[in-house]
Amino acid sequence: MTLLLSGGRLIDGTGADPRTNATIAIEGERISAVSTNGQRRAGDAIDCSGLTLLPGLIDAHAHLGLVFDFTADPGAMSSAEIAARTFRNCDLCLDAGFTTVRDMCGVDGGLARAIESGLVRGPRVFPSGPAIVQTGGHGHTTGPFCFQDHSIEFPGLVQLIAICDGADEVRHQARVNFRRGATQLKAFISGGVVSTTDRLEDTQLTVEELRAAVVEAKARETYVAGHAHNTRAIRNGLEAGLECFEHGTMLDEATAAAMAKAGAALDPTLAVTHLMVDSWQEWKLPQSVVPRVQGCERMMGEATRMARAAGVLIGSGSDLLGSEQNRRGLELTLKAAVLSPMEAIVCATLSNARIMHQEQDLGSVAEGKLADLIAINGDPLDNPALFDDPSSVVLVIKGGKVVKNAIG
Ligand SMILES: [Zn+2]
Repeated sequence: MTLLLSGGRLIDGTGADPRTNATIAIEGERISAVSTNGQRRAGDAIDCSGLTLLPGLIDAHAHLGLVFDFTADPGAMSSAEIAARTFRNCDLCLDAGFTTVRDMCGVDGGLARAIESGLVRGPRVFPSGPAIVQTGGHGHTTGPFCFQDHSIEFPGLVQLIAICDGADEVRHQARVNFRRGATQLKAFISGGVVSTTDRLEDTQLTVEELRAAVVEAKARETYVAGHAHNTRAIRNGLEAGLECFEHGTMLDEATAAAMAKAGAALDPTLAVTHLMVDSWQEWKLPQSVVPRVQGCERMMGEATRMARAAGVLIGSGSDLLGSEQNRRGLELTLKAAVLSPMEAIVCATLSNARIMHQEQDLGSVAEGKLADLIAINGDPLDNPALFDDPSSVVLVIKGGKVVKNAIG
């Protein structure tokens, strides 16, 4: 049976001008036709008059499973509660119009499988598994004088990090991650905001260690993304063959040019830096993050514009933490002010799909692609704040199935 979305204004994810009175035909899980002549076709129709149709949004930097208290004993929360909170984040994600996420450390293929099988309502998940981290690096959250390291580690659900020192340990962890369903790897290659024993200016993991991860990723025909706030870390990452850099806070023009030359992408994360200043308590983070995050949003905005000027592929990632992740679309609202509303949409759709090697199936509204589509009540080009309001997302279709319908 054909499902038709008719009468809406279509923003297709490619950056092309919006098309009015669009009709999108869906057969099974894919888009079978896109037309704009207002022609009626046979099939079940959803009237989208007055709505803006877009590809399902993609969050390229999610942490659906980082729902626990970073400041408490890791045993303070049960695995059942962690699972329940993770599933709730999956729900919130779909309701906000995000039909795909790249999870950049935390959940593994266990969650992706639970969603694919229909047991859990949620987006398509491309998990990284635990981040590859050096001793004392970003994500090594236990206190430095703790005599026994302990961390959240529930294979099949969530694991924040895996500490690896030396290329052999990195290689081993990469293989573990892929065995558990990782679709790409994530390495922490600089200090981070949520850190207690490093600086944002530090580099972490050596080029040799990162190369081991890249070799394993290439063997699986995928890639490594690096958490990097500073340019020395990005340079190391480029030398090792990393394809994508998260945050990029202190980017400079020369490094942006080097990224463009290497074909590497930047994934700025404006929402987290914006929200963390006020939400650190709610997210159960230590107060020490506050001075570390100050100024990051402004610098990241500048880095984003610098990357655009250099011709770097730019993605979109919210980096939300905690157990009530309902501000995912804020990333687009903030990006719209840094670049433009249309560019913010492209970053969160086709560019994210390209970064994730999924552009053949995802990221734009075109014949043959998976039918991941949303409808927004209003014009997000005129009012990008609509992205930050899940109630404005009135229709969500994932793989041809209506998973939210609040039209009328
Ligand atoms: Zn993150």
